[in-house]
Amino acid sequence: MEDMLLYEGKAKKLFKTDDPEQLRVEYLDQATALNGARKDIVQGKGMLNNQITALIFEQLAQKGMSSHFIKKISKHEQLVRPLAIIPLEVVIRNISAGSFAKRLAFEEGVELAQPILEFYFKEDSLDDPLINDDHVKILEIANEEEIKTIKDEAHKINQLLIEIFREIDLRLVDFKIEFGRCSDGTILLADEITPDTCRLWDFKTNQPLDKDVYRKNLGEIVPVYQEVLTRLEKRFN
Ligand code: ADP
Ligand code: UDP
Repeated sequence: MEDMLLYEGKAKKLFKTDDPEQLRVEYLDQATALNGARKDIVQGKGMLNNQITALIFEQLAQKGMSSHFIKKISKHEQLVRPLAIIPLEVVIRNISAGSFAKRLAFEEGVELAQPILEFYFKEDSLDDPLINDDHVKILEIANEEEIKTIKDEAHKINQLLIEIFREIDLRLVDFKIEFGRCSDGTILLADEITPDTCRLWDFKTNQPLDKDVYRKNLGEIVPVYQEVLTRLEKRFN
């Protein structure tokens, strides 16, 4: 029997499997920007992101950071633990860029004195607004203790990702992660960590090797994402 489609998003499809403890995630050949208003088929992107995020979740696990990731089952599919996703986009910034630089008229490319953590309410109909801890509590997205867990974990993940990307000559400018709750309430890292969700600049040239290539029409994204995967494979496989 065909697996049941649970959700079709902008970059992935989620399917139920015979095992209630496992979901199958299929990475799609689709690129979007402006909250989905701009959308393109990009042949090969799904396969690249599936492999990139699998390698990164494996590296994080080796460094003691667990996530929803179970295993990669094909070039464009992986199995993950089903979670109740907390509707927050947790962004950490190490270098000024993107909406931070724009909102605050802050020069781009400046190394920040400390990592900045931001919460965005994951709600497409509101365009994912920037919110603070009080909003998170009042909206009952998470309680005080959970907010602390999310922030502590996000900062740890940042340090581990900085190390991982440094080893492949990439600067981790900023990134977005999501967390979910297991049935016992434990909070676990979920979703994906890919050039779609991170800003990655080449250490020597500062060239972006991430979704900004698509957002800013700087060229083809497949060769750029392939470069990230090749560097990861060379270093970690
Ligand atoms: P979007 O929903 O923004 O279009 P995607 O296409 O990446 O994004 O869709 C994947 C969806 O799956 C996201 O909404 C994400 O929160 C959700 N998700 C990620 N990991 C899990 C998980 N382990 N369990 C349940 N849902 C998940
Ligand atoms: N990001 C993401 N999904 C979103 C919004 C942002 O993965 O819906 C990532 C983005 O790729 C970047 C970081 O979060 O690495 C910070 O993004 P920013 O707030 O600067 O927004 P942008 O200008 O990229 O939309």
